[in-house]
Amino acid sequence: MTESSSDKLIEVLRKAVSRTSMLAEGNDPELDSVVRQIRQVITKGAGAQEILDVLNDAEPLLIKSDEAQLKRAKYVRKALQSLIDLLEKQSNKTVPQAEKKELEAQIRSSWQSPAQWPELLKGFLSLSQNTFDQSSDDTNQTKNSFFKRLLKQDSSSEEQSDDKEIMSQISHTLAGLINNLQLPTHYDDDIVDLRKALLGNNNLQQLPELLDEVINFVMVAIGKTQESLTNYLNQLNKQLASINVSVSTSYNSQKSLSESREGFNTKLQTQVADTSKAMQGVNDLDSLKNLIEDRLSTISSTMSEYKTDMQEQEKQATQSITLLKNKVTRMEKDSTSLRSLLQEKLALAMTDSLTDLPNRTAYQDKVMPLCKAMQNAKKSLCLAVCDIDHFKKVNDTWGHLAGDKVLRLVPKQIRMALLKEDMIYRYGGEEFVIVFQNTTAAQAFERCEAVRRAVEKTPFNMQGKPVSISVSIGIAELNSTEDSEALFSRADKQLYIAKESGRNRVMIEK
Ligand code: GH3
Ligand code: MG
Ligand code: MG
Repeated sequence: MTESSSDKLIEVLRKAVSRTSMLAEGNDPELDSVVRQIRQVITKGAGAQEILDVLNDAEPLLIKSDEAQLKRAKYVRKALQSLIDLLEKQSNKTVPQAEKKELEAQIRSSWQSPAQWPELLKGFLSLSQNTFDQSSDDTNQTKNSFFKRLLKQDSSSEEQSDDKEIMSQISHTLAGLINNLQLPTHYDDDIVDLRKALLGNNNLQQLPELLDEVINFVMVAIGKTQESLTNYLNQLNKQLASINVSVSTSYNSQKSLSESREGFNTKLQTQVADTSKAMQGVNDLDSLKNLIEDRLSTISSTMSEYKTDMQEQEKQATQSITLLKNKVTRMEKDSTSLRSLLQEKLALAMTDSLTDLPNRTAYQDKVMPLCKAMQNAKKSLCLAVCDIDHFKKVNDTWGHLAGDKVLRLVPKQIRMALLKEDMIYRYGGEEFVIVFQNTTAAQAFERCEAVRRAVEKTPFNMQGKPVSISVSIGIAELNSTEDSEALFSRADKQLYIAKESGRNRVMIEK
């Protein structure tokens, strides 16, 4: 990958991650953990694919969180509208229509943006103040006259009970709103207090104060997301910067090493030239001696300055080299553990779990190239297909578990009759393949006979009773032109003949 295309990739990923985090953080614990995972993946310098995988995992959670956010916004819109409707319901008060329309338009255009919620609530506060102010007979209105009026002795009792009713309904709506904000848990106690105050309140006088508190909580709810986003972006920037720092540090210290060497040379030359120029104008020995001493000490301090400089720069260079080394070591470690993980997985995929023998996949992987190699080297190779006789009867008579036991024991008997270099595979069901390298047909026949006898002789214990098991085997020797499949099918044909001739026997092409 070129420098600029890898830069572009990093840029795209950085943007993707920022967006993810922006939508995600603080909405849902499950999603938060995915966001953390994304950061970890980025920090440890994972490849693009791994980063994309984690981002893909986050997608359904993001959609879920988007939906939760929308649900919350819808709730806020509904609550604001019902607050306005509550004002309207008061028969003896007129809601100023122009202001009400304006507020409703504002709600319609900005209910989806949490940042606007406090403003909308403030709009409602002003609308309710103006509603009560207008309906008052008091001509000498002040901004708070609506609350002052409530304190007046002469307010009619009907009006007061009306106010109580509307206040308790407003309070309930606000309490519901607070409930839907999903504030951080350490605000739980404050919320309980505010809810209590709201639900226990039927005094209009306290409405501005309570509404102020609600607005504060709304601010907290939207401020939280912004704060964690800022933190996250800062952190991300630091991480990205550190990728460049170690490289540019080592580059710069290289550069300044050679620059200061040049500067030192120039300075030294100037000092030497200055000295000889000064010496020309001096006549007596003492002042000459003083002059030289003076100059020498200047030169010597320049040299020790240079030495300190060099040491400092060398130290820095060593540090950045160590940093780079550590990074490389970590990458090596990562790739080593990845490699061994892959090897483990591969080994698992190649092994039959019942018998622990290499399975058919392993057989196919190994035998095709082996046949070619043996043909090229002009060496002999034999293949035997070995099948347990009447195995279905074992299952039918003693059960499937007993059948499994036989399947585990038979290959053990087979192994004991073979040489170390002979390979056994579980080809499928109750069928095994034995591959004999550097073995002639006659030798293979002899070893398969030994296998057949060993299995026949073994008393397999079934529910306390000895039961005999036998195998039939077909053998073929690899010729110089065929492939492994053709070899297998010739051996299989011999196995068929062995079965047809009565089982418990070994057959080979004549
Ligand atoms: P033949 O002598 O002609 O080979 O007869 P057979 O009964 O051995 O052959 P057949 O192909 O009719 O039956 C093989 C049986 O092996 C059928 C199948 O249920 C059983 N089998 C295959 N794999 C397993 C296994 O993993 N565990 C057990 N218990 N049985 C298995
Ligand atoms: Mg069988
Ligand atoms: Mg079979």
